[in-house]
Amino acid sequence: MSDTPPERAVADDDLPPLREVIATHDLAARKSLGQNFLLDLNLTRRIARAAKVAGPVVEIGPGPGGLTRALLMEGAQQVVAIERDERCLPALEDIGARWPGRLKIISGDALEIDPRPHLAAGSAPQVVANLPYNVGTELLVRWLVQSGDAWPSWWSSLTLMFQREVAERVVAQPRSKAYGRLSVLAQWRCETKILFDVSPKAFTPPPKVTSSILQITPRAEPLWPAQLANLEKVTAAAFSQRRKMLRASLRQLVAQSERLLEVANVPETLRADAANIEQFCAIARALPQFSDAGKAKPPPPETRR
Ligand code: SAM
Repeated sequence: MSDTPPERAVADDDLPPLREVIATHDLAARKSLGQNFLLDLNLTRRIARAAKVAGPVVEIGPGPGGLTRALLMEGAQQVVAIERDERCLPALEDIGARWPGRLKIISGDALEIDPRPHLAAGSAPQVVANLPYNVGTELLVRWLVQSGDAWPSWWSSLTLMFQREVAERVVAQPRSKAYGRLSVLAQWRCETKILFDVSPKAFTPPPKVTSSILQITPRAEPLWPAQLANLEKVTAAAFSQRRKMLRASLRQLVAQSERLLEVANVPETLRADAANIEQFCAIARALPQFSDAGKAKPPPPETRR
């Protein structure tokens, strides 16, 4: 059975239903680990198909393995799965035994483990995950910025389950409530799209809010040139006071903020939530001309609006 070609989807993996797996391994969900499990393989297979999995895949937080099984059934050649909860490891090992050589389970914290050395050499991996809500945004920001100015990224796509509110921040357009640093950072170098929503009822236990599947695909080139570090500084300062005019919010970066905006050809009275990505990039490009810009503190790792 293990020689099923990866490109051909399988009807069933003949492993026990996920409810049974959870009962057998005593995997009562823990809130502290952001555990909301997906037990319906039809849904997890829909997510894997939406991601168009084909080659290597990195999964964060496989838990009892509902999405992991779907990824393997839908054609992922290799899945590298990082799970922090050691209670889940025996259930994941059973999946690995069903798909010999195709599942690599890494026990530990995804914030501390780099999956790249664990992947077979070859094509860039896709990242597919039902992320734990407590570390989801931090991981997303890391994936967006960790390559620095080198682009495209090491991953070929991100297909991620988020609370709908976070997914909306990623795809938001200027002049909307959800628009912020995360929107600019993501859309500058990636295409972003909400594929579909998932009701709280699909999870065990159900979360309080609706979730969304978000698809992020790197663009070959950023939309407009800018250095990432400068774009991060500008968006951090601008969105720290999102309703203020840019000449006021950017003063924390550059004393002559009016001059900075003039060089960038951006109206000084514009507010952060109305500035588009092209304008943020223009300000980021002008920033190095101002000697006090170097004093600006780098933004915190967690991106907030
Ligand atoms: N993928 C499973 C599913 O869809 O049913 C579980 C998803 S659940 C929302 C999040 C999973 O991430 C849990 O299994 C949890 O133990 C794991 N997790 C939480 N924090 C983690 C971390 N820092 N590193 C790796 N895994 C983590």
